[in-house]
Amino acid sequence: MIGSLLPIRRVLAPNAGVYTLEGTNTWIVGRDPTFVIDPGPHIPEHLKDVAAEAGSVGAVLVTHDHPDHAPGAVPFGRLVGAPVYAFRLTGATKLAAGQRVRAGELDLAVIHTPGHTSDHVAFFEPTSGALFTGDTVLGRGTSFIDPPDGNLVQYLRSLRRLTDLGARSIYPGHGPVVLHARDKLVEYLAHRDEREAQIVSALAEGPHTIPEMVEVIYADHPKEVHPLAARSVLAHLEKLAHEGRAERIGKAREGSWTASTPRTCERCGRPVKGKGRYCDSCTLAMLQSDG
Ligand SMILES: [Zn+2]
Ligand SMILES: [Zn+2]
Repeated sequence: MIGSLLPIRRVLAPNAGVYTLEGTNTWIVGRDPTFVIDPGPHIPEHLKDVAAEAGSVGAVLVTHDHPDHAPGAVPFGRLVGAPVYAFRLTGATKLAAGQRVRAGELDLAVIHTPGHTSDHVAFFEPTSGALFTGDTVLGRGTSFIDPPDGNLVQYLRSLRRLTDLGARSIYPGHGPVVLHARDKLVEYLAHRDEREAQIVSALAEGPHTIPEMVEVIYADHPKEVHPLAARSVLAHLEKLAHEGRAERIGKAREGSWTASTPRTCERCGRPVKGKGRYCDSCTLAMLQSDG
């Protein structure tokens, strides 16, 4: 199975919604045996449809443990008599970052892509350039980062890792197939940069609460999405705090956020995390030279 001859079919789960767009995409990859990626929620009718479409299944794979992707996996594995692999799912064999999974002639690389969730993995077939991104990249709209399991610092690192793969097309967890993988990944990175710039400029005007920032930044979105937007703004603020560029004042929920200047090492000038005067490597170097 080489190049564009790699058969990839989709069975759409009947779980349309705010997070799931038209529903979860269950992907069937290869032929006799097949991989089945993300059987979705435990919906017996859907699992039967996937089983009929997939034929002989070599392995069932799960991108992450969210309820719209994972709960059907173990029942589906039982239904078709195939092993189930996931990074974090009861009843599945645990995947490791960088490993490969095999079904017949077909090999998929497992790429750990934390950010949307900490357990998220993508699957990559290098010969065809097909990349299965789960919820890290969607066919339409943006991925939702909900702290604390969601983490924007890790998410951006994962997007860059996926960009470096040189994938051709993206088969997402929701929404249509993306034919130009690189353009989409660049667009995703640019979108987060833009959001960050909006938050940084809000903080530059003085301390703000998250709802105040949402009112301004998401002014053109319906009110119904504002609670989700608040989680996303929190993810950005946590990233800025991690970089020493923002800090929380007051209590967790009702508190405000304010801009802060990153502290720098008094010896080498690099950013310092925590309260010390020196960065870790300078602290170590000074300890060693004191012998
Ligand atoms: Zn998800
Ligand atoms: Zn999803």
